[in-house]
Amino acid sequence: MPDYQVLARKYRPQRFSDVIGQSAIVTTLKNAIKFNRLAHAYLFCGSRGTGKTTLARVFAKALNCQQPTADGEPCNTCSSCKEIAAGTSLDVLEIDGASHRGIDDIRQINETVAYSTASGKYKIYIIDEVHMLTKEAFNALLKTLEEPPPKVKFFFATTEPHKVLPTILSRCQRFNLNRIPTVDIIEKLQKIATDLGVSIQSEALHLIAHRADGGLRDAESLFDQIISFHEGAMTTESVAGALGIMPRDILFTFDRAGKDGNLAFAFEITQQLFSQGKDLIHFMESLTDHFRSILMVKLAGKTASFLSLTEKEREQYEASAKLYRQEQCVEILDFLIEAQNQIKYSSSARITLEAVLLRIIRSHQRIPIELLVKKLAELEQQVATLPKPMVVSTPISSASAINGTTNTTPPPPPQVKQQEVIMPVSTPATTAPAAVLMTAVSMTEDPTPSNSDLGIKTKKASKSKEKLPPAVSATEQAALLKEPVAVELGARPTEEVYKIDIKTQSRYDTILQFTAVELEGVIQKKSFR
Ligand SMILES: [Zn+2]
Repeated sequence: MPDYQVLARKYRPQRFSDVIGQSAIVTTLKNAIKFNRLAHAYLFCGSRGTGKTTLARVFAKALNCQQPTADGEPCNTCSSCKEIAAGTSLDVLEIDGASHRGIDDIRQINETVAYSTASGKYKIYIIDEVHMLTKEAFNALLKTLEEPPPKVKFFFATTEPHKVLPTILSRCQRFNLNRIPTVDIIEKLQKIATDLGVSIQSEALHLIAHRADGGLRDAESLFDQIISFHEGAMTTESVAGALGIMPRDILFTFDRAGKDGNLAFAFEITQQLFSQGKDLIHFMESLTDHFRSILMVKLAGKTASFLSLTEKEREQYEASAKLYRQEQCVEILDFLIEAQNQIKYSSSARITLEAVLLRIIRSHQRIPIELLVKKLAELEQQVATLPKPMVVSTPISSASAINGTTNTTPPPPPQVKQQEVIMPVSTPATTAPAAVLMTAVSMTEDPTPSNSDLGIKTKKASKSKEKLPPAVSATEQAALLKEPVAVELGARPTEEVYKIDIKTQSRYDTILQFTAVELEGVIQKKSFR
């Protein structure tokens, strides 16, 4: 039985044209050979699995190939190409910087650079994970790097270029490798699947590519693992199961549950993840990605080219995008990014996730800020038409100012002694919006509105029955102590409550009253300047 070769090695690019996602770098390297403008040292930087060592090897092959093609590709058939591919070439030496990081290792290199090449044109040192070298080792390398013998080249690869000494960096031609686009990874996986004769749904490939996050080797390793896991055809569900992730459908169900205000679904979904042993942190990442996609669809439409989604997912995202407001998506994304950090350090990831899901569901019930701004603008216009106010100093409770009642209110809070109340010069306006404004002009020093400022009768107030002035009649007391309407600021308002109607005393009026108070304050300041 022949040794099994993992997919990442079996399908490793052997020529420049096989390298995916790095076309600019490939062009530069090919031109360097073509126009004979070779540097002493090259540094390939990039995250894992993006093809750093692969590029270095293909470049080394192309430089030493005995019969390169017209466009600078290695032939892959000459002895040099074969030796480099097999890792047995005496002219191309691969050194692992992580395990050969000391000064002695570098001294060995320094001693061997002077020897001529065995058969190839160049002697090439490929040092992987070069950032792992010690400072002394780097310094020992400096001199050789500055003026190497004519036929010696250094190719460095690193995931952490910031750890490489600046003196080394300045002696290298640096290439930053891109993360490989999801579509390119899918294409490569599809080719591998066809070559191996395995059948897999394109959505399943999408899941793998997405999970690999721009690293081709990761995608190939995952694909390898999934092929071993399956006997028959690979479906999206089975691949999601093998990867330990939830299928995206649950996220679309969550969107609909959120719109319906189904708070219990937050617990349901967490329980499901928890009982199936899914990674909650990974789910949080998928959730963030989900809202990112929703926002992108909202902003650019489902056909946007930068969306790496399947046709079915584009449809689903379009439907979900209609359930959210644009601003809401931005807010959700903002706190999901914060929550991603929180969940990593949380003692209970489960509760953190539940709280996050609840918050997303509740975000459907917030009053859109644009609407408040619009109403505020309307109020401002109405105020502009009112007569110029004058200031009368009189002791008056804030609650009575708000409610427009003078004799049936609880005593004023102790901190309110003296207040400035604006009285119109002419007869008080009697239209509803103006009445709201005129009754809401009392300003305490503390800008935070108390319940009485907002015209809310609290339970606490109802308990202070004995403190009420004796002049208040029994019927008036009964009316005053009536069980107050609970104010849920988060509840979704209907169209009617947006209309300012003082008679309905709708709970949303309190918010608008508060904004009106602030607005009046601003206008007052301006009119006295
Ligand atoms: Zn060759």
